[in-house]
Amino acid sequence: MTRYLKEGRRKPGSEWIKDQTRFLERAYRLTLTLFERLYPVGKQVAPALTEKVMIWGEKAVKGYIFNCQMCGQCILHSTGMTCPMTCPKNLRNGPCGGVRANGHCEVIPERMCIWVQAWERSQSLQEYADEMRLIQPPVNRVLEGTSSWINMAEGRDKVPFS
Ligand code: SF4
Repeated sequence: MTRYLKEGRRKPGSEWIKDQTRFLERAYRLTLTLFERLYPVGKQVAPALTEKVMIWGEKAVKGYIFNCQMCGQCILHSTGMTCPMTCPKNLRNGPCGGVRANGHCEVIPERMCIWVQAWERSQSLQEYADEMRLIQPPVNRVLEGTSSWINMAEGRDKVPFS
């Protein structure tokens, strides 16, 4: 079943990396600081190139570690560093009613429910653990394939529909 669902794919070692939540949280903070300093310069000097580099970087890095589906509205730090778009139902506010007794997914039985993983991982976050309780707006499909970092900087990720 998993080979038919891109959401179900996992790269070698990526589940181990996702379990290193403290490290990922620190990496997120560092990336955020760097981005906040560099993006305004990139936007002024070479906006198209900056966007290309950001999209490439997100596809490569987040694609490998988190199986990022490039939704353009990243909420990884609010979901225990576990991408909600890797839920086969793309649920962004917790699990469906079909989680199996062993914590596995009803659509991909050989995988853990990503929301079980998200909850467990979120508990070891220092700064963002409480964000698991936030209600996320519906995903805006118009932003698919774009840079979530740039969308965050431009406030586009706060608009559910456009
Ligand atoms: S940008 Fe969207 S699809 Fe990619 S890791 Fe973040 S939440 Fe998941």
